Amino acid sequence: MGAHEAFIADPTLYALAVVDDHGTPIGLINRFRFRETLWQQSGEETLKNRPVGMVMDRTPLILDEHAPIDQLSEILSDDHTKYIFDGFIVTRRGKYLGIGTGFSLMRRITERRQATLAHLAYHDTLTGLPNRQLFLDRLGQAIASAARNRRRLAVFYIDLDRFKVVNDSLGHTIGDLLLQQISERFHSVIRKQDTVARLSGDEFAVVLTEMASFERAELVAQKLLEVVRQPFILDGHAVHISCSIGAVVYPDHSDNQHTLLRMADDALSAAKRLRNTMRRYTDDMARPSAMTPLVFSTVRRAIDLEELEVYYQPQADVRTGALSGLEALVRWNDPSRGYVSTNELIQLAEDAGVISEITNFVCGTAMKQFRSWQQARLGHDMRLAINISGIEVRDGVLPAMLRQHVRDAGLSMSMLELELTESGLMFSDVVATQLLSDLREDGVRVSVDDFGTGYSSLSRLQRLPVDVLKIDKAFVEDIGIGAKQGALVRAIVMMAHSLNLTVVAEGVETEVQRAFLERHGCDLYQGHLLSPPLPPAQMEQYLRDRHARPRATERARKTCARTSSTSVRTIKKKLPIQD
Ligand code: C2E
Ligand code: MG
Ligand code: MG
Repeated sequence: MGAHEAFIADPTLYALAVVDDHGTPIGLINRFRFRETLWQQSGEETLKNRPVGMVMDRTPLILDEHAPIDQLSEILSDDHTKYIFDGFIVTRRGKYLGIGTGFSLMRRITERRQATLAHLAYHDTLTGLPNRQLFLDRLGQAIASAARNRRRLAVFYIDLDRFKVVNDSLGHTIGDLLLQQISERFHSVIRKQDTVARLSGDEFAVVLTEMASFERAELVAQKLLEVVRQPFILDGHAVHISCSIGAVVYPDHSDNQHTLLRMADDALSAAKRLRNTMRRYTDDMARPSAMTPLVFSTVRRAIDLEELEVYYQPQADVRTGALSGLEALVRWNDPSRGYVSTNELIQLAEDAGVISEITNFVCGTAMKQFRSWQQARLGHDMRLAINISGIEVRDGVLPAMLRQHVRDAGLSMSMLELELTESGLMFSDVVATQLLSDLREDGVRVSVDDFGTGYSSLSRLQRLPVDVLKIDKAFVEDIGIGAKQGALVRAIVMMAHSLNLTVVAEGVETEVQRAFLERHGCDLYQGHLLSPPLPPAQMEQYLRDRHARPRATERARKTCARTSSTSVRTIKKKLPIQD
């Protein structure tokens, strides 16, 4: 069969290898280049019967199946991006084995990077144990499975007695060593299916799944107390310490993971009065302030007392520097604590079910502000980007709220951009997808925030109603550190363009990063290099300065597809590479 027939017979065939009689590869024919050549020639008929030698690439990239992925990505990232599109040949002991493509490689690297990022985000760096977030997640899963199997489970909240004394007298290095060794000892006590996590400082938590009776939990608690009591030898010092444990049981005490943990914490407070002991939760241990109502009223109060503010961060064209939009970022200035981390605020508000109050506040404030800048002829051709939580897309009230604010402020929907994180989009169901599609019909742009930190696949992106992809700052940080990682940003840009998406790089802090992004066709950028998020008065000054001496006359160029999206869809031949 000739090359032409082969490509027609198998529409998923990405490339063909040409081999000699001994199976040694001598050339490669890429489907798309082959088609180009066909078109350039006077017609299919004339070329169809010519020898393949005429159309093949005689110097393909050939790699052994055992070549490490890093070596390959380095080759591809240097001056050989052509192979990302053309594909390359993989051999076993010099004989043809299969075809690999830059896209399959890219997917593997992103997966690996995502796994590392996810690990960092959900684990404590000192002990490697799951952190509070992952613990709550696992506890939620354990509750669901216990409910299915009609089993009970126990949760321990553990705190070291007088850890501060060790830290203060022997120093933090010894303190850290102690925490590491304690987490190892805890591990030696629990079973594989149970989880031990470090919640903060010297606080740990354990979930014991599939428990027949509370007696077993008591036994484990005794062992935990005992392993901590055994002396530790740390850097030549013998350290004696003990711990206290608060215990709760599902379903006896609650069926909600947050409530269970809070109750375990209350029981811990009771245990701490005695030290070196375990106490099981009883109602009289409850502290008066339940967490959710407290958070709810705190966030409400923050809004009512005007403790929330909106800061603005500009986005600009990577090439011309022309401003293209402003992102509204909420800030909470708590009179007693000062500025509270925005991530923490959003997490609290989501947990307490008051996130839409925040969105409501941000939309109202930012749209009015945006309108007043427009009236002052400042940034009238920009968009306003608002961050939206996944939860809000599901509860369905978002469109009405947005329209109301747009009307009140005298703006138009087409000036808005909504930023949703990958995880927010991942959870979205048919209803949410429809909701976003409707908003897009009104001219709203939808962007995927923090791309690369979640698990959305590019093929899924293709089916979602989105216009913009924001590359997470973790990837941008890697630019200039190693050729490999820069290659990842490049590949994301290429793939996003092939899906017709505009690409924004987040967290751009250096000129080296910006120049790299420009070289590789990234459309827009945002980050401290351009400007940090600014309060309204300072943002206004910034806009005035830019207006007085625009950095570039050229308008932000329109971004559109550069490559055919078919090239992404048709990769079927998997690359036989190992990590
Ligand atoms: P995001 O939407 O990805 O926002 C970008 C974050 O990166 C902001 O953090 C910003 O201050 C920070 N940043 C900007 N430029 C740089 C840079 O050059 N270097 C570094 N290292 N960081 C930079 P922030 O304001 O703390 O916001 C954190 C996240 O909280 C946001 O991430 C967004 O997901 C969420 N968020 C912020 N405001 C809102 C809101 O009003 N509603 C909702 N639902 N989420 C919000
Ligand atoms: Mg954002
Ligand atoms: Mg982001």
